[in-house]
Amino acid sequence: MSGTMKLGCIADDFTGGTDLANNLVRAGMRTVQCVGVPAGPVPDCDAVVVALKSRTAPAADAVAQSLAAARWLRAAGAAQLYFKVCSTFDSTPQGNIGPVAEALMDELGAGFAVVTPAFPENARTVYKGHLFVGDVLLSDSPMRHHPLTPMTDANLVRVLQAQLDPARGRRVGLVEHRVVAQGVDAVARRIEALRADGVALAIVDALGDDDLRTLARAAAALPLVVAGSGLAIGIPALHGLRPDDRTAQLPPPDGARAVVAGSCSAATRAQVEAFLAAGGAGFAIDPLQLAAGRDLAAEALAWARPRLGAAPVLVYATAEPAAVRAVQQQLGAAHAGALVEQALSRIARGLVESGVGQLVVAGGETAGACVQALGITQLRIGPQIDPGVPWCHAATPARAAGLHLALKSGNFGAVRFFHHAFGLP
Ligand code: ADP
Repeated sequence: MSGTMKLGCIADDFTGGTDLANNLVRAGMRTVQCVGVPAGPVPDCDAVVVALKSRTAPAADAVAQSLAAARWLRAAGAAQLYFKVCSTFDSTPQGNIGPVAEALMDELGAGFAVVTPAFPENARTVYKGHLFVGDVLLSDSPMRHHPLTPMTDANLVRVLQAQLDPARGRRVGLVEHRVVAQGVDAVARRIEALRADGVALAIVDALGDDDLRTLARAAAALPLVVAGSGLAIGIPALHGLRPDDRTAQLPPPDGARAVVAGSCSAATRAQVEAFLAAGGAGFAIDPLQLAAGRDLAAEALAWARPRLGAAPVLVYATAEPAAVRAVQQQLGAAHAGALVEQALSRIARGLVESGVGQLVVAGGETAGACVQALGITQLRIGPQIDPGVPWCHAATPARAAGLHLALKSGNFGAVRFFHHAFGLP
């Protein structure tokens, strides 16, 4: 790697990684996304996103993976680190946003970090430290039913504080919107005042892209920022970079088209329903059948193979909250999630080996499992399909010609995303 890397990013899941890379590319940064800490060389670029699958891992694992990524990124020349978290702040009472942020601060010797999941283009805004999803508080949004990270408190100051290690004594503060609206100097002064008060991390309000650009400038000298993908729109300009169409070019797509959905988020549920309602071919995966030992991955592949080529096929575990709860009561949430991820990732691999060259994966954890099963180590970021979701291109041992891949965070994308992604009406 030559010495041009400006920003080093650590994403806590795979769709989050492409979401962040997409915003960096659109704002003019040449960005490479790596799956885990790179083992080999990375092409010359302005930003590297190391995508981990650490969001729901045990906190100690998440910390260890994130520190390894931070050390690699710093050795490769990154002056600032960007810890990318979910725009709905997905986490559990044990973490992992707090533990990872603290470990990164210790590693960097950072006395202060700003934190904001705001992504106004996708209707995630933060006001008085409270996260809104569209018109409702996070805790009133469908996120309260998430299978792995149900979010029942919208007050991010409280949520983050609860995840910090009391023994380290770090306090969480707030930079309110009225300060952000006054501009870069006001935010910088507020950060200084909070630091003087002994505050170590601050949630920052943001209602629109201008707020995020202000924050990016005010935080330019901080060694660590913790944010959703939204803050990224303000960073390339700090390095004199401008949007440029050539940063998002990919080889032309080829091969059959398929969708693998493991997200049970509201947006994905609506997308699966719309795809099936429009006559799309779908195969459902039932976690209880998996637990009973039925080889649904083999059945799904046998079902899909004769259908490949004509129109996109869909394999999905997506289910309504009541059905997910029933499954979780029988199997436990983690076991159910792991069974489904294992089956869907085998299916993704099998589909690509059978001629799928264009694959959409819905769900962050699901995408992580699929990318790992496909043996993918690096992704090139291409054009945006919907906010937060670009087409990517990757080399994979499963297909000599490579694979076009879209990793869709569960709650992203318009209702006809699965058609729209393939350019279908
Ligand atoms: P999102 O991006 O919406 O958060 P994820 O893939 O990250 O989606 O998380 C969804 C989790 O729910 C995965 O671990 C997945 O395996 C699991 N899951 C999917 N379908 C079901 C189901 N029907 N019952 C229980 N768990 C499920």
